[in-house]
Amino acid sequence: MPALSEVLAALDVLWPPERAEGWDAVGTVCGDPGAEVSRVLFAVDPVQETVDEAVRLGADLLVTHHPLYLRGTTTVAASTFKGKVVHTLIKHDIALHVAHTNADTADPGVSDALAGALDLRVLRPLVPDPTDPAGRRGLGRICELPHPMTLAELTAYAAARLPATAQGVRAAGDPDREIRTLAVSGGSGDSLFDDVRAAGVDAFLTADLRHHPASEAVQHSPLALLDAAHWATEWPWCEQAAAQLDAVSDRHGWGLRTHVSRTVTDPWTAHAASAPPTPDTTNTTGAPR
Ligand SMILES: [Zn+2]
Repeated sequence: MPALSEVLAALDVLWPPERAEGWDAVGTVCGDPGAEVSRVLFAVDPVQETVDEAVRLGADLLVTHHPLYLRGTTTVAASTFKGKVVHTLIKHDIALHVAHTNADTADPGVSDALAGALDLRVLRPLVPDPTDPAGRRGLGRICELPHPMTLAELTAYAAARLPATAQGVRAAGDPDREIRTLAVSGGSGDSLFDDVRAAGVDAFLTADLRHHPASEAVQHSPLALLDAAHWATEWPWCEQAAAQLDAVSDRHGWGLRTHVSRTVTDPWTAHAASAPPTPDTTNTTGAPR
């Protein structure tokens, strides 16, 4: 059985911490480097539900995409929800390790996993990493669809292939527009509109899109937008990451058992579609009928 320090060294090769953004908080949150590791759980969010799942599984290490503490803290008191997470982990000898923006830009990275879940052909990064001469690392991916689809068809296709959430997938733009090329970026991607427009793709799939940036993006260009649940766009990375660690474990003869949490930790838990619009509810003078 490998020591935690050996497993963490392997994770740092997959997602080098120095490639994380300056504002990010990646790496090991808690854990004894000398402790033995036999079981590893991968999840998007370091929240109580996934920590409880790690306890039930008997995991020794929880690897999450999102950081627990992004802006520092002065307390891990169990009266706070993050402190309770830390207490639960340490009480059960479970280490917590975070790979966030260093996993986003990796090769393969978070958006490769998202593209894989949608059966897309990855052409290149949306925002290439200038330090990667091979041109494979970077933020987001520019992809080709397996076959052309209308925006409405692509929206249903994405909703069927991504893990189920209350939100599902919504789209902006002409539902009948034919889509052949798609940029994808796991997580919040509305800071990437300029790059998406420069790439000249037909559509952009990401999460957390807001009214004004989305409205401007579709008004100023023929770009269509697809907005999925943040958790759903990043969850495919957990399976990819677990497979990557499995390969390392096989190479070293570690015999690690890896698991992927299927607990939906997207914060949105209910969704109701509006009744179909009835444009004929006012007459031409604007007075209600
Ligand atoms: Zn995220």
